Amino acid sequence: MLKFYNTLSRQKEEFVPIGNKVTMYSCGPTVYNYAHIGNMRSYIFMDILRRTLLYNGYKLKGVMNITDVGHLLSDADEGEDKLEKAGREQNKSPFEIAEFYTNAFFADLKKLNIQKPELTPKATDHIQDMINYVLALQEKGYAYETDDGIYFDISKFPEYGKLSRLNLDDQIAGARVEVNSFKRHPADFALWKKAPKNHIMQWESPWGMGYPGWHIECSAMSKKYLGKVFDIHTGGVDHIPVHHENEIAQSESLEGCKTVNYWLHGEFMLVDGGKMSKSLGNTYTISQLEEMGYSAMDFRYFCLNAHYRKKLNFTFEGLKAAQTAYKRLLESLYEHKISPLDTPDTEIQEIKQKFLDAINDDLNLPLALGIVWTALKNPPSHSIYEMCLDFDKVIALSFDKAAPAEKNDVEIDEETRAIAERRFEARKNKDWKLSDELREELKQRGYAVEDRKDGYELKKI
Ligand code: AMP
Ligand code: ZN
Repeated sequence: MLKFYNTLSRQKEEFVPIGNKVTMYSCGPTVYNYAHIGNMRSYIFMDILRRTLLYNGYKLKGVMNITDVGHLLSDADEGEDKLEKAGREQNKSPFEIAEFYTNAFFADLKKLNIQKPELTPKATDHIQDMINYVLALQEKGYAYETDDGIYFDISKFPEYGKLSRLNLDDQIAGARVEVNSFKRHPADFALWKKAPKNHIMQWESPWGMGYPGWHIECSAMSKKYLGKVFDIHTGGVDHIPVHHENEIAQSESLEGCKTVNYWLHGEFMLVDGGKMSKSLGNTYTISQLEEMGYSAMDFRYFCLNAHYRKKLNFTFEGLKAAQTAYKRLLESLYEHKISPLDTPDTEIQEIKQKFLDAINDDLNLPLALGIVWTALKNPPSHSIYEMCLDFDKVIALSFDKAAPAEKNDVEIDEETRAIAERRFEARKNKDWKLSDELREELKQRGYAVEDRKDGYELKKI
């Protein structure tokens, strides 16, 4: 049984999709800068979820938006648009900024073996859908106009706060909701903002020139591509108290029903136990890790060792340990790959069941990786290698790149080599007794012999 922890109910629930194709929406990046490793942890979580659904035989329609307008410096309605600010600082248009960082983001997804969702719509391509959405909310009496924009009237949605379980006073006390004199209630939020003249990104609307609020893009695009009710919505935990509450308020008010069945959130990555922030200089990107000698796969391995609902503390010692473990894992896989032996199918099926139970228990990847390691401890067997390749459909750590351990350069003397050759002949002739005797002789000389499909390998003990 496939189970996910639903933030809305604070419980693990059996997953029952609406139709025969799972519909899933993931809040995508705001493309004003390179995504950092914390962001990428969130998308690795999205990827594991996608792959688990596919592994279970579901068909999938995933949407991840690209936020290229509307995300202000605060997550609420204050401050400059992040894209406009980056454009001003880098002497580029916000559209150039968006294109550059969107491409960089997709390149990172590829390096990390993160599947690109089926659809990755940009907010700026959906301005009309958002305007229509705001109009519909206004018609139903959920929105009001002020001098600087159109706001959602939170007093009309008594269930506000049901996802974060924060009451409004706590919300307002939180730093993320700032007081704006135009609003009727401090927690009301912008659906549309009227643009000052110097605002570069602005579009015509029934309320004059302006630009959309950040939250409306997700409600408008999820409805457009996934329908008014869909299965799964994902994002990082920081989205729970503002962005996703606001999405719920917009969507449920318009549709008059619950619009998302399962809300899944990925926990944060910390650096050296604290927050990742540019001012602290600890927001690494995947490219920076690569420059330091770590691969994107080392980082993916590092992330998979922690459950997505647990905070993960990033340290270079931790990454180094992940790199070493990942290398050992590939070496061990290689031993299985080249083995001429097989494991009985009943044993393979047993391990496969354990693996499935682990991933289906709310994406328990640390346990799933543990199952892989235990399986690899078996005597080398080609069927274990094949099984791991199957698991790699979910884990996606490029198991097909399994490589031999770096060769030990120990010279093997002629006499030892001759004994090994005689043993190889004996094996070919199925003279097991002689073969074992010669193995023992090699051992006395300090060598272990490992059989390969078409030969053998000698290693120093
Ligand atoms: P943004 O580009 O700021 O909209 O963020 C993109 C995604 O990264 C969102 O789903 C955030 O919740 C997530 N995110 C931001 N910081 C972190 C972090 N330190 N650890 C994990 N996820 C994060
Ligand atoms: Zn969103």
